[in-house]
Amino acid sequence: MKIAMLLRLLFVLIVAVAPALAQQSRPVVATGLSVAGSAREVTVTVPLSRPLAAPPRAFALPQPMRWAVDLSGASASRIEAGGAGTVKAARVGQFDADIVRVVIDLSAPMRIVKAEQDAKNRLLLTLAPIDAAGFRGLVSRGRNPIPGFTGPAVGAPAAGRLEEVEAILTEQLRAQEAAGKAVAKPVIAPAAPRPAAGKPPATAAPPPAPPSPVVAPPTEAAAAAPRPRGRDGRKPLVVIDPGHGGKDVGAISVNGGYEKTVTLAIAQAAKRAIERDGRLRVRLTRDDDRFLTLGQRQRLARDWGADLFISVHADSAPNAAARGASVYTLSEVASDAQAARLAAKENNADAIAGVTLRGQDRETTGLLIDLAQRDSMNASVDFAQGLQAALEPEGVRFRSRFHHFAGFAVLKNVGVPAVLLETGYLSNAEDSDYLFDRDGQRAVAAGIARAAAEFLTGTQVARR
Ligand SMILES: [Zn+2]
Repeated sequence: MKIAMLLRLLFVLIVAVAPALAQQSRPVVATGLSVAGSAREVTVTVPLSRPLAAPPRAFALPQPMRWAVDLSGASASRIEAGGAGTVKAARVGQFDADIVRVVIDLSAPMRIVKAEQDAKNRLLLTLAPIDAAGFRGLVSRGRNPIPGFTGPAVGAPAAGRLEEVEAILTEQLRAQEAAGKAVAKPVIAPAAPRPAAGKPPATAAPPPAPPSPVVAPPTEAAAAAPRPRGRDGRKPLVVIDPGHGGKDVGAISVNGGYEKTVTLAIAQAAKRAIERDGRLRVRLTRDDDRFLTLGQRQRLARDWGADLFISVHADSAPNAAARGASVYTLSEVASDAQAARLAAKENNADAIAGVTLRGQDRETTGLLIDLAQRDSMNASVDFAQGLQAALEPEGVRFRSRFHHFAGFAVLKNVGVPAVLLETGYLSNAEDSDYLFDRDGQRAVAAGIARAAAEFLTGTQVARR
């Protein structure tokens, strides 16, 4: 875009959008909560003080089954209500400085069939039964604006993406030029962009009034999708995280070697391969034998503005015959006992350092998996599949199942697609030989480099 155009857009933003945003800075207050209905249909009603500026964003969570509906630019004190039909109960509360969250507990799978804010400013959420497979599908979809939401201030779903906001403003500028008069206020108030790589969800308060959508960071939804360019216009950045390090040696191989050594060697080889390829930038969370907490690894990825995060590990098992690589993505619930066991082991790194992981009950954990998380989870699955596809031709053996989900702490709150690659079993003699061998390390590294480049340059068609 030309500089002149950019300046004019900024002017438009200041003149036209700023008053709208200032108006929005007064929060919508949730003043009540009620649940009514039958086995066929249940309506959750939340009276609000004024029109919502953007459609609520909703996501489904399993175990326990529930819906969470987020209202941005809102405030509320905690309100609880009993259930009706297959809605067990509901509650409203302040999730963070800007977001009020409505949680709807279910005794059977349900979907939101209708969402509106009526003329009295009441938010009406209508839910109807759905089958278990359908509900799982909704869970995997993550946190999105409720489709078809209607409300006094929201004619159409608000633009979530920077490009859309920019397109609207450009169109208005053209209309203004054509008419030769002052530009009208935007029809659509841009959804407040959240920091693309912000703090953890629990504390990540979005800016109440972003200074300008044009210069604000891209939304997480946009950041989560593979894009041909990095978020700052430079080449996309892949951050590779060699697991363990320092006093945390990780798994110990049949020959007495350490996991931390293998993970660093593979990560360094992958860095060289990515630099040779030239399509991406690459950084390592550690480039020597040092200890990093899981939180420090996440923070580095966020601070550097990573577009993709790959944590490299090697497993061990009591059964010496167990072998093969696996790719894991984050999920609230482990896909199987093996994934759960592994997550517990890898998460233990912080306990080794005497860092206590915050005790979180299931409910809190579920709610902590917030938008950055959810939006990037689907993209993580895409990348996991691409990574396995790139590693197999390099001769890397995989365990039979395609990929797995588990609650890996190191993958949480990164806010971008993130996977954990278990390159093989150090407790297996063949895997161990392969992973300690330079050629083996180079093969794994080549697969990582190719998968990352294909994913981030969009040469491989992603699902979104
Ligand atoms: Zn490990």
